[in-house]
Amino acid sequence: MQSLHARHALLPSGWAENVRLQITNGCFEKIEADTDAAETDEKLGIVIPGMVNAHSHAFQRLLVGHAEKPSPDGEDNFWGWRERMYQLVQNIEPDMMYAIACQLFTEMLQSGYTSVAEFHYAHNGPNASVHGNEMSRAIMLAAGDSGIRLTHIPVVYERAGFDADGPNERQKVFYRSASELLSLYDDLQQFTSSHVSVGLGIHSLRAAFPDSIDAIVEHARADDVPIHIHIAEQEREVTECLEATGTTPVQWLLDNHDLNHRWCLVHATHMNDSEISELAKSAAVVCLCPSTEANLGDGIFPLLDYIRADGRIAIGSDSQVTVNPFEELRWLEYVQRLQHKGRNLVRSLERPATGDYLYQLALEGGAHATGRSSNQLARGNFADLLVVDDRDPVMLGHTADSYLGALVFAGFRSPLTRVMVNGQWQVVDGQHRLAERTLQSFDSTVQRLNNRLSAA
Ligand SMILES: [Zn+2]
Repeated sequence: MQSLHARHALLPSGWAENVRLQITNGCFEKIEADTDAAETDEKLGIVIPGMVNAHSHAFQRLLVGHAEKPSPDGEDNFWGWRERMYQLVQNIEPDMMYAIACQLFTEMLQSGYTSVAEFHYAHNGPNASVHGNEMSRAIMLAAGDSGIRLTHIPVVYERAGFDADGPNERQKVFYRSASELLSLYDDLQQFTSSHVSVGLGIHSLRAAFPDSIDAIVEHARADDVPIHIHIAEQEREVTECLEATGTTPVQWLLDNHDLNHRWCLVHATHMNDSEISELAKSAAVVCLCPSTEANLGDGIFPLLDYIRADGRIAIGSDSQVTVNPFEELRWLEYVQRLQHKGRNLVRSLERPATGDYLYQLALEGGAHATGRSSNQLARGNFADLLVVDDRDPVMLGHTADSYLGALVFAGFRSPLTRVMVNGQWQVVDGQHRLAERTLQSFDSTVQRLNNRLSAA
């Protein structure tokens, strides 16, 4: 039994003071507010639940900052960025994937994500030389070593577009048919643990045959695991879907599948009014990745209409341009402010502070996207939490009604001091326990990859 005592903690009912959290086998056994600390308790400042990163592609960590120069033709958009991403992924071996994922997961933990859903389609390595589970294993091992909670989402990827029979040359690195994906999924079950689980993914409607989607949905239903899909991120994708199927991507999913609690739709940027209201009424969650969507020029998700219709959201770091949940939430609100020329727009009567409301929305949606009922600080839940230094300059002068306002809207250095996953401290004094070792191996991986890319 481990026992923590927080001066302030964010519980499901709201902020509480002098909270004692007792932990056994990685889960909260007892949580009590307005209680004195015992001598042996670890005394902490502000404790909040750890955030879920509901959409990540680990290998894209290496692309960050490298696609920010205008191209000679002046046509810089998502599709040009995708070419750069294809070039990178052709060169990544499983041991490199491990080093990249370790570095990224360490950064996620240090910034406040305690859990990640890794949407994995970089299956096959250079020249499609990897045929087994090595890439998935590399990511699962990295999660185990870094200590982040992982929902691994291997993804079906079969074709280059709605009218294609298979992938193009550059997409062979991603190829997995539905039956191959399901055998990979079955094979990976032997590596699951208390903090590593496996779900199922569909890259996008354009990259999977309808029969394959049916097979994956059925498998996910039988095992009751999450299903993730990229959807309606780009206007071109919406047009192509309309031409190929006679309907738009989100509507196609609504018409052909029961969008129940297992579904996580990533982006869903381009929807018409009826898609917004039908999707909000379904039990699915939408994962928004505001910094990536801004970086790639995707467009603006209709957040206010969707939330007014009771839609659920999670957040994700996606292309890793931002690995910080507080910054991601700030972007979510700021984009709406810029668009609608108002302030404090993502609002709720029950949670009057914008930072609190954004955090709770993403926390609940993130639990849903990873197949859990809750990530709150509550009895029976995993002991995944963040400790904020209440004496840090960023937090000085704040009280419970603005702690999350300070965390979400003050874009200074992070006042997080400690991060716990499954009852174990992964970050202490702001540093991950393996930060130095992880950085060394990341550094040599970056050099190896740069040599390869410059020789290509
Ligand atoms: Zn993505």
